[in-house]
Amino acid sequence: MSDIKLRFAPSPTGYLHIGGLRTALYNYLFAKKNGGKFVLRIEDTDRTRYVEGAIENLIESLEWAGITHDEGVVVKDGKLAEVGDCGPYIQSERLDIYKKYVDKLIEDGHAYYCFCSKDRLDHLREEQRIKGKVPKYDGLCRGIPLEEAKKRIAAGEDYVVRLKLPKNKDITFNDAVRGKVTINTDEIDDQVLMKSDGFPTYHMAVIVDDHLMGITHIVRGEEWLPSTPKHVYLYECLGWEAPEFVHLPTVLNKDRKKLSKRQGDVSVEDFKKRGYLPEGIVNYLALVGWSPEDGEEIMSLDELVEKFSFDRVGKSGGIFDTDKLNWVNSHYMKSYDLEKLAELAIPFVTESGLLSEEEIRDNFEWYKILIDTVREACDKLEDIPGHIKFLFGDIEITEDAAKEELAQEHVPGLLDSFIKIVKSHDEIDMETAKGLMKEVQKDSGVKGKQLYMPVRAAISGNVHGPEMQNILYLLGKDKLIERAEKIKNSL
Ligand code: GLU
Repeated sequence: MSDIKLRFAPSPTGYLHIGGLRTALYNYLFAKKNGGKFVLRIEDTDRTRYVEGAIENLIESLEWAGITHDEGVVVKDGKLAEVGDCGPYIQSERLDIYKKYVDKLIEDGHAYYCFCSKDRLDHLREEQRIKGKVPKYDGLCRGIPLEEAKKRIAAGEDYVVRLKLPKNKDITFNDAVRGKVTINTDEIDDQVLMKSDGFPTYHMAVIVDDHLMGITHIVRGEEWLPSTPKHVYLYECLGWEAPEFVHLPTVLNKDRKKLSKRQGDVSVEDFKKRGYLPEGIVNYLALVGWSPEDGEEIMSLDELVEKFSFDRVGKSGGIFDTDKLNWVNSHYMKSYDLEKLAELAIPFVTESGLLSEEEIRDNFEWYKILIDTVREACDKLEDIPGHIKFLFGDIEITEDAAKEELAQEHVPGLLDSFIKIVKSHDEIDMETAKGLMKEVQKDSGVKGKQLYMPVRAAISGNVHGPEMQNILYLLGKDKLIERAEKIKNSL
């Protein structure tokens, strides 16, 4: 195994956003491609945004997608556990570690205690806003001598710790997607590193953890790009080598706006619930902001690992296009292992009320053929009930084209013949179904479209649909007779 190590570091604020899954995927792909490791770390230092059960949910979503990690937080026997020797991997369990480095920054003069009240900071921000300035801490506490600050703390005053950024210093780093990025410290705030509750902020925790966990490449959303100079400066202050940075373009909707919950599905769970297959989601997400050199669009996770590189990640936002996702997913619907697809489809079919789980289990071979018959027409599992519905309940002819087919003069005779042939068999198994229309042709003397279309209309209600042989088999002897008789009597 190489020294390459990447991490996905989500905050447990509720669910895994589809854009987060793409970040995790790109981290995973690069780690695997280079024989490295992939770590899952939980960044829960913002206690106000913590949601119970969110960590388990994140892990479940990643597992569902097949993006497995080598180190970090896992669920074992229904409980959170850890693998790897750089733990703990949950930030709230690492407070002592952060404190040690915050103290070092203070002693070395790279950070200072700040006693400004929330009121003062609110006023300051408001004043700056009115003057049209970017809100920024004015550095009031920068000059407090360390000894005096320590006395104030001992006397019980509330404080935070801030980074003491040098004035007017250019900070430069390289980003694998954007190239060289330079930001002047005059444009950056004296970032809070440790909050009054003793928790570090994200900025402090992230650099300590990435360093101590041996992370070589930071791959994250571009919303973190403006924070990176602070991180680079912190690495410098602590005498550490900064990792490589890769900031990914934001996942946008078709209107080039950030994908947000208000406009529809954004969580991985939402997509799972709608019956997208993990392989389809992963394949499609890889293409949101990246493309392989050979232009291939359908790729397994292994193929993605083989082809992935950061130099083909685009600078501008990746557009999340549901039509394209459907197209990619439909490919997996067609090629999926039938047994597995049939299992995955069960909750969708039972929820529609068309079949119970018991009926499915008792007739599993029949059910598998049912799924196989319609999978071509479905983009996702959610579409299945709509395509199998015609096999259940009473036959209703609503389509004009079907009505026209059935209005032809030869149809009553044809249906008589069809009923006679079906009745002549003990049951309609696949073999019988295959030859059945030939038998009807021989008996009735009707051929081709004239034969197929009216029979199809009479037993399915439609003139188009799946293979005739499958419809005959799936409906079975009794339903075929019942439907054909009903239609014949209505003519
Ligand atoms: N906890 C941050 C997030 O949820 C991670 C940012 C990073 O990868 O550095 O977006």
